[in-house]
Amino acid sequence: MFDKVLIANRGEIALRIHRACREMGIRTVAIHSQADELAMHVRLADEAICIGPPSAAQSYLNVPAILSAAEISGVDAIHPGYGFLSENANFAEIVTDHGIKFIGPSADHIRLMGDKIAARDTAQKLGIPVVPGSDGDLESAEQAEAFAESIGYPVLLKAASGGGGRGMKVVEAQEDMAEAFSTVRSEAKAAFGDDTVYLEKYLGTPRHIEVQVLADTHGNVLHLGERDCSLQRRHQKVLEEAPSPALNDQDRERIGAIVSKAIGEMGYEGVGTVEFLYENGEFYFIEMNTRIQVEHPVTEMITGIDLVRQQIRVAAGLPVEYLQDEITFSGHSIECRINAEDPRTFVPTPGLVTDYHPPGGLDVRVDSALYAGYSVPPYYDSLIAKLIVHGKSRNGCLMRLRRALEEFVVDGVSTTIPLHAELIENPDFLDGVYNIHWLEEYLAASDSE
Ligand code: ADP
Repeated sequence: MFDKVLIANRGEIALRIHRACREMGIRTVAIHSQADELAMHVRLADEAICIGPPSAAQSYLNVPAILSAAEISGVDAIHPGYGFLSENANFAEIVTDHGIKFIGPSADHIRLMGDKIAARDTAQKLGIPVVPGSDGDLESAEQAEAFAESIGYPVLLKAASGGGGRGMKVVEAQEDMAEAFSTVRSEAKAAFGDDTVYLEKYLGTPRHIEVQVLADTHGNVLHLGERDCSLQRRHQKVLEEAPSPALNDQDRERIGAIVSKAIGEMGYEGVGTVEFLYENGEFYFIEMNTRIQVEHPVTEMITGIDLVRQQIRVAAGLPVEYLQDEITFSGHSIECRINAEDPRTFVPTPGLVTDYHPPGGLDVRVDSALYAGYSVPPYYDSLIAKLIVHGKSRNGCLMRLRRALEEFVVDGVSTTIPLHAELIENPDFLDGVYNIHWLEEYLAASDSE
């Protein structure tokens, strides 16, 4: 097992990784920007190294500075968390070349899945159903029109290197294609340095269902059920739950088996998430994330498995501690992503947290790096806490979530806590009948009231 791990991240996920390491007897090294000197991950880690100015480009994305920190502190491994460098194949490669273990899959697998066209192609070859679309990049708006014609409008133009809900545009009809095509191309070039674009059928009422996988270097491949992440705004997840209210056991088994088989054939190592849209009983692959995800705790809550611990074990060459038939799903779990944002306009609200009182009690988990007196910096993602609750049933889980949201106090900055409290009272949400467009429609309707 590793002796010392560098955590190449910040915020709640840095803390989450630190906790797993501590429980495994592994020492931790925090890195931080000048803006994060007083951050919780810095306070808790065994060692901390400042790697640059506040901007992410100069700190959490600064590969030479992170490598120097790793060398100076003499770590055996680097955990990238999510975001930042977690899906950067070049970073994984450089880390490996320096004789340090990158806690994640191989650089080749990261690269393959980071290119959405290559990922689609791989998925198809491995027997995973994909959304109907262009098999490969589109060279011109005319080619895009021809494809769109063959599968029918509306279609979704997507950047091959896109992520975080960016680099996508819906095209309703042929007359809009030429303009949309050049917009997505130039936006993709600017945001991702790659203007490769492809298209997919735009599904009207799907749910976002993703399957958690865990594979080691001893040939063990497990799936840990699904998460339903259909509550989204701007293609970004707001609340996640497991199990999905839309799946039955047969669907669950079917998709789990398809995914496990594919992951095994790929020779994939570590944790990963295979994302699907689910409509009319059918699953359609959209992408694979080759890292730990923000919403991993809902899976932990219903399986009792510490995914970060397993991820670190696998990276150290140890087998996962479970067999597929030992994995059972107990009860229901929901996660609310709490952002330092205005709950209506979603404008970020960085600033001083004057008071902080997280909820507690049985089956209530808060993953957060906040404390009273902490100042939320304006430079990074606005996620400040995740509230995750568990209940015996979905209804029990909702009752507990309601109570936990009521208890949650974050003073000084506006947060999305009131939005969550409102959403979980909505009849559609209570009935579990919502798709990926539901939240935007709900917000648009309530804004016009
Ligand atoms: P990203 O890498 O930016 O997260 P994804 O491909 O995972 O992009 O898609 C993010 C979200 O965009 C999905 O969860 C879904 O809400 C929406 N989306 C993606 N593909 C489609 C599609 N073909 N039809 C309708 N919505 C889609």
